[in-house]
Amino acid sequence: MSVLNKKTVEDLDVKGKRVLVRCDFNVKMENGVITSDKRVVASLPTIKYLLSQGARVILCSHLGRPKGKVDPEFSMAPVAECLSKYLGQEVKLASDVVGESAQALASSLKDGEAMLLENVRFEPGETKNDEELSKKFAALADVYVNDAFGSAHRAHSSTAGVAAFVKESAIGYLMQKEVEVMGKALENPVRPFVAILGGAKVSDKIGVIENLLEKCDTLIIGGGMAYTFMKALGHQIGDSLLEADKVDLAKETMAKAEEKGVKFLIPVDNKVGKEYKPDTEAMIVNSDEIPDGWMGLDIGPETQKLFADAVKGAGTVIWNGPMGVSEWENFAAGTIAVAKAVADSGAISIIGGGDSAAAVKKLGFADKMTHISTGGGASLEFLEGKELPGIAAIDDK
Ligand code: AMP
Repeated sequence: MSVLNKKTVEDLDVKGKRVLVRCDFNVKMENGVITSDKRVVASLPTIKYLLSQGARVILCSHLGRPKGKVDPEFSMAPVAECLSKYLGQEVKLASDVVGESAQALASSLKDGEAMLLENVRFEPGETKNDEELSKKFAALADVYVNDAFGSAHRAHSSTAGVAAFVKESAIGYLMQKEVEVMGKALENPVRPFVAILGGAKVSDKIGVIENLLEKCDTLIIGGGMAYTFMKALGHQIGDSLLEADKVDLAKETMAKAEEKGVKFLIPVDNKVGKEYKPDTEAMIVNSDEIPDGWMGLDIGPETQKLFADAVKGAGTVIWNGPMGVSEWENFAAGTIAVAKAVADSGAISIIGGGDSAAAVKKLGFADKMTHISTGGGASLEFLEGKELPGIAAIDDK
């Protein structure tokens, strides 16, 4: 079953229908004030489209971690205000999630009007994907739309369970872009297909490595996890990050790459530091001669060139995870060089969520990428080839 075959909002006839839309309004807040409303803004295309079609729109999301009980600190009230401002019409807030207030407001909605439910995680059944709660969500609406990619790897009532109890379901525009860009890269990539994986641990990324090894032409490993691969090659890695119990797995992975004819690149040189500190004494050394008492904290200049050359001429590049401790200026050069190479490659460029997305944005390359995923955990699971419950639950076309 292809993820590219899911119904989208444009496949729906929503005039006069009540449409429950699961958004990601998990905005950054400080003392009850929204400090970044980017997620609300990102949700507007789906909401505006539905309103323009005469739908009666019931919005919902989680916000923070209220742990299954009502907690005013995590009320959606600031989000309702923010939505009203952007939509130029009042978005009324229910005082509960699926109770009397939500039901009354939902049944009084007119075509082209929108309302917002209280924080779905005020309900203890939400994160348990409780069937009774899913049915209550469904009873509010005729149609369900999921536009919250960042929560799509969770089987919760508002992200997955509800879909089974409505007449029709679809994905929203945000989710559609995630699924189309990443789905095409995995199912039918423009070649050569280069995958770049970095970050701290092999154990966090092994699922992605294994899945992409089946599909890509070149696999590049950088960041802290590269040292476990160097160890597997018999190199001295000094005090660099090592997952000793993953050395055999690293060997097997490299053997598999060779067998499949996938070009497998790890750093040939490194910027090593004396201590795990931003301003530690540092030097450049080759990968087979990292002295004891030193640790690899970034890829070196030769590796920057090697990786940049591998990206040149690529048709598709997927990148997840920094090449070093990019939070520290002294060890950010490798990540910056790779970001620049990906941005200049002309390839379809996909940045997995989390740290690499943050690095690309901070370094000013965001506009040059085809797609920066909005989901950290969700995009990793997607790249692992796992079925995401929030997408699987949606009707096929
Ligand atoms: P991840 O969340 O798995 O993408 O890993 C990101 C984290 O990996 C960042 O916090 C980096 O500081 C860390 N990291 C990357 N390279 C290294 C390295 N060579 N040594 C230690 N930590 C690293």
